[in-house]
Amino acid sequence: MCYAIPGRVAEVKDGVAVVDYFGEKRNVLCDFADVRKGEYVYAQGGVLISKIPEKEAVEILEAWKEKFFELKELDRTTSKIHENADASGNILQILQKVNRNQELGKKDALELLGTDDGEDIKLIMETANNVRQKDHDNACCVHGILEFSNYCTQDCMYCGIRKGSSVKRYRMTPEEIIDAARHASKELGFKALVLQSGEDPWYDDEKLERIVREVRRLDVLIFVSIGMRPKETYKRLYDAGARAALLRFETSNKDLFEKLRPGTKLEDRVQLIRDLNDMGYVVATGFLTGLPGETNEDLVNNILLTKELGADMYSFGPFIPTDGTPLQSESKPDVDRVLKATALARFMDRKSKILVTTALETVDKGAKKKGLMSGGNSLMINITPSKYRDLYRIYPGKAGNDKKTEENINDTIELLYSLGRAPTDLGL
Ligand code: SF4
Repeated sequence: MCYAIPGRVAEVKDGVAVVDYFGEKRNVLCDFADVRKGEYVYAQGGVLISKIPEKEAVEILEAWKEKFFELKELDRTTSKIHENADASGNILQILQKVNRNQELGKKDALELLGTDDGEDIKLIMETANNVRQKDHDNACCVHGILEFSNYCTQDCMYCGIRKGSSVKRYRMTPEEIIDAARHASKELGFKALVLQSGEDPWYDDEKLERIVREVRRLDVLIFVSIGMRPKETYKRLYDAGARAALLRFETSNKDLFEKLRPGTKLEDRVQLIRDLNDMGYVVATGFLTGLPGETNEDLVNNILLTKELGADMYSFGPFIPTDGTPLQSESKPDVDRVLKATALARFMDRKSKILVTTALETVDKGAKKKGLMSGGNSLMINITPSKYRDLYRIYPGKAGNDKKTEENINDTIELLYSLGRAPTDLGL
């Protein structure tokens, strides 16, 4: 099983290496290894994570070569835009702007978001997939996510593991976390791992630092997703080897934020995301789509804020009402709304990596494919040990929880191959 293929260093300048994958070039930061032109490396999320001996790399690349070009061709075919005479004139005009690589304004974005016409939506998605192919080719990153604690000191009204929830709690010990990461890296082949938890102070700086240091020894890119922590904690984890952080701002609407996340402030969260960026983290951020009270303007503002925050990766999934929370009787958003948001993010921030979330797949079984066909180019697979998986119940019925990790991996790889996507790094 392979989630990354090695590339050959074509050039190194000012701490950035250009990595060549069969002629496709990606820029990566080389913090972890001193590399020279001609050496072979693995990279993830725009970060060079390890060198690989030439003999081993050449063998892997030889085995991949034919498949790589086959996938590229398939992606080119599946991302073509079909003639669509039935789409509305104003939508066609805006999409022509996209095709001319012109910047879309807020008014354009609202227009695209506002259409409910099936032909319009189909064309918006096809155009987004086409833009993704032109700008990023068929690269798609697949990260593993390990949910290591469902304790949380916060009481976000939409969340199934909020402080007030009656969910059975669990915490993985540092040893369990390191072992699960080792299994994911050595047995399952993951090169990037997201370590996620509720805001759980049981993991103090010392514990977190030790976990990050040990997991980094496995030669993986570490994303930390541990919520609001002091800047100093994140700095310490960066120094220990974490290079990516996942922290959503959830909504750019200040009133909605403060209503749904009692006792917290949007400014503080946004400031922490800016700080993470300044520290050098690869930042994954975003929002929940379809929160009760969200307007179309809010959703467009969410995309604009994600862009303004310099997100390396967009992470946004649908709000899913969860029993036992104050929002349990609210409605979940229409899948098309999330897919349109994916397409808009692709149009408004063309360099972005866009994660297709498990929450989207939970709302609609076929939505993972639809998300990848609407501009998405990144996925996560849950690697949490099965005895804990159902307890990390931020929302109910999480897709894939009823299957073994290996089965989820096989399904994902099969889907990616069917669309012509390859596990090359997306670069910076
Ligand atoms: S959304 Fe995050 S911070 Fe809020 S209650 Fe859930 S786990 Fe805690």
